[in-house]
Amino acid sequence: MARKILVVSHCLLNTAAKVRRYDRGESSAEERLRLKTARRALTRGVQLLQLPCPEFLTYGGRRWGHVYEQFDHPFFRKRCREMLEPVCEQLLCYAQDGEIDLLGVLGIDGSPSCGVKYTCRGEWGGELSGRDLAPFVSSVRLAPGRGVLMEEFGKLLAENGLKLRFEGLFAPEPERALSVLE
Ligand code: SF4
Repeated sequence: MARKILVVSHCLLNTAAKVRRYDRGESSAEERLRLKTARRALTRGVQLLQLPCPEFLTYGGRRWGHVYEQFDHPFFRKRCREMLEPVCEQLLCYAQDGEIDLLGVLGIDGSPSCGVKYTCRGEWGGELSGRDLAPFVSSVRLAPGRGVLMEEFGKLLAENGLKLRFEGLFAPEPERALSVLE
């Protein structure tokens, strides 16, 4: 029987990398879905290949939440590529193995880096002091489209002839995302 591998965003397995959250209600709903996903993968014998967390590796654990517009520049994209190249090489190696089934990539919808169907957009940037922050905070919205890491990952896989399905956890249809484990 073919072994199955699913590529997952880093924080699906390690929430310590995430931006600190204070809205506990939403966090616990996310946590339940995360645990359900991990449990389903493990009980089905799906191997989980963990992507690097580009935000933690660039800005550390005390970073603010960001929006897509702040990461949409050549330097962050280059950094994402550097992190993703070793993963792509591993996938190429698994793809050569006739007995391994690459199920796809499961990202984190709503993330400016790891979103797949949805990312996070807004007019953020610049000094915080001396400004009325309310309009900037309220400009943040869930928007269709990939996060920057997932955009670069899609391009890198295509350049290497790898075609993988992309799904995002926490999208409006979580069961659809989980079907990547079938
Ligand atoms: S950048 Fe990606 S892996 Fe890191 S915390 Fe955000 S969603 Fe998770």
